[in-house]
Amino acid sequence: MKSKVAVIPCAGYEIETVYEAVERGISLLGGWENFIKPEEKILLKPNLLNRADPEKAVTTHPSVFESVIRNLQSEGFRRLVYGDSPGHPGGVEKTADICGLKTVADRLEVPLADFTRSRTVEYVRGRTSKKFEICQGVLDSDGIVNICKMKTHQLERITGGVKNLFGCVHGMNKGAAHAKYPDAESFAQMLIDLNLLLKARLHIMDGVVAMEGNGPASGNPVNMNVILISADPVALDATFCRLVDLDPSTIPTVFYGGIFGLGRWREEEIEILGVDDLADYRNPRFDVSREKEYSGKWAFLSKLKAVGRKPVILKSKCIRCGACVQACPLEDKAVFFPDRGGEAAVTAGNREVPVYDYKKCIRCYCCQEMCPEKAIIVKRKLL
Ligand code: SF4
Ligand code: SF4
Repeated sequence: MKSKVAVIPCAGYEIETVYEAVERGISLLGGWENFIKPEEKILLKPNLLNRADPEKAVTTHPSVFESVIRNLQSEGFRRLVYGDSPGHPGGVEKTADICGLKTVADRLEVPLADFTRSRTVEYVRGRTSKKFEICQGVLDSDGIVNICKMKTHQLERITGGVKNLFGCVHGMNKGAAHAKYPDAESFAQMLIDLNLLLKARLHIMDGVVAMEGNGPASGNPVNMNVILISADPVALDATFCRLVDLDPSTIPTVFYGGIFGLGRWREEEIEILGVDDLADYRNPRFDVSREKEYSGKWAFLSKLKAVGRKPVILKSKCIRCGACVQACPLEDKAVFFPDRGGEAAVTAGNREVPVYDYKKCIRCYCCQEMCPEKAIIVKRKLL
């Protein structure tokens, strides 16, 4: 059996254009009732990574969010809530407000789920992680509709369907997970366990304007003009890869997603709906890391910090806000203000740009994700 992925061309964020694209994609997949029941309480899980203007392509665009809600409501699905656990400290409501989603949700009477509290959930079948701290709003729902964003990511190269469910993990536990699963492989395997636990019913990817380059928060918006929809997050992400000429087997969340039974990524295992030829929508110039990682007998090289990649601060852009210091998940911070004696200061008034201790740094790139000024880039450089 093949996994179905609807690839729906969508020229822009005009609400009726997006509404029709979502409606068409869902129809091609057999309708909402194939995935959820009207009496169920459904959590809509957008990407609310941080407080960014929707046009920056950091977060799910309000038009996509609105189109999903209105499509569901028009089909009689009324028990909708929404939420995410953003990387930015200070709560989901404020983040949703700045990202333009709160206005939509309030107007369409979709309440915010409880993402302030959480509960530990055992997952004995997990291969890498056997328990997760899951937000209460996720546990209170009957099912999840994942509304993710098409973006690059420094640790996993891309973030799409599989990675977006990480926002169901509560607050600071996300940082702890980065510390516990410090490399792309183990982190991806943890994400796959999380996906297998949560079993989102449907994954809708906002690829109208995607993010390329220094994603997931500091890259550049690029028109891809598609919305992807699938019940299989691995097939969804693999299709994103093919649209940008990236080999899906080199993406840990995709490759291990196939091995662990979350979904399918091989071309012959995926049925594309909505377009005659996926190649017509390709963007081979999409700025994403396509370099081959060390493999086979040279795999050990990728573990060596001396030849690997590392975050670097561009002094001219840094406003010394301390968000990177705060985001670092290590107890003994690997990025810190030198004029504060290594203290994890996040108050105003730091005179110097933060510095890295690359011997401690685990290359999780949480600092790069949270920098509001695009001042952190990732470079491959000898120490
Ligand atoms: S988060 Fe960015 S702008 Fe803020 S201190 Fe760190 S590097 Fe500088
Ligand atoms: S300094 Fe940045 S990349 Fe290194 S461990 Fe801390 S957050 Fe991760």
